[in-house]
Amino acid sequence: MRRTALKKAENKFSLKFNRAVPAGRQEFIRWFFIAIAIIFILPVCSFAELKIVAPAEVFQGRSFIVFLSSPAKSAAAYFDGKKISFFPYENGLRAIIGTEPEKKTGYYNLRIEAITDNGELEIKKLSVAVSHRLYPKVSFRLKPSKKKLLSPDLIVREWAQIEEKILNESKDKLWYEFFMKPVSGMTTMRFGTREYINGKPTGRHRGWDFRANVGTPVKAGHNGRVVVAQFFKAFGGTVVIDHGQGINTLYFHLSRILADVGQEIEKGKIIGLSGNTGISSGPHLHWAMSVHNIRVDPMQWVETVIP
Ligand SMILES: [Zn+2]
Repeated sequence: MRRTALKKAENKFSLKFNRAVPAGRQEFIRWFFIAIAIIFILPVCSFAELKIVAPAEVFQGRSFIVFLSSPAKSAAAYFDGKKISFFPYENGLRAIIGTEPEKKTGYYNLRIEAITDNGELEIKKLSVAVSHRLYPKVSFRLKPSKKKLLSPDLIVREWAQIEEKILNESKDKLWYEFFMKPVSGMTTMRFGTREYINGKPTGRHRGWDFRANVGTPVKAGHNGRVVVAQFFKAFGGTVVIDHGQGINTLYFHLSRILADVGQEIEKGKIIGLSGNTGISSGPHLHWAMSVHNIRVDPMQWVETVIP
């Protein structure tokens, strides 16, 4: 048996010896090379293939996860031209990708660029279908005194200040398992609703509205760090919490802010009181979830665990 194995290995690695080399030494050298091959060559052959787990389909406005199993050292995903970072997760890496509620349905390229453990760049291309999700249409009126808040210039200028904080992604993941709703009031406007204010289409509703009397305590959806705590004209009293790795929650129209920039916040901690400030037609809380600067349906994060 041993001789057959040796013969096979000899054929495989084509070791030829000069007759002058003693038989015992020849055998030692053969086994030495076989051992080297087992240690260095076989692991490369068996683990070089990058394993990717990604959904084939995602609904408009929802978030999805891409997992990479080892041996990726680092990686980036490119979805519809936008670069998204991967972060370490269990034995591999994972990226969270958000889709806008109005994203055109169809197939999108998902390109993964990974640096494998042996330092090589590996590129994989997949396709993810964005499927239609039905969103309602709602018309409402703003008081004449609040009409000037609809100025696109004002909204763009104020949003730029919030966006600057959201784009600054921190590496540590501060949330785990489910997010919680910040208030217990009933829903007054769902995420993705096509809004018509004073008869004009103003785009999609990029958050979730809850009915809340002015002064209702607003709780942090999960652990994080406060990155915005400020009054804006368009968004009203605003708190933004950074949950790490490109995930933020936003709380608008507050009457009072009870959090400071830089403060570490625990899930459920009161960060402010609800109100009717900014572009708001009645007392409510607007709650938004941002995934790498794309507003997604926050209820998906309350109802399911996004690891
Ligand atoms: Zn809202």
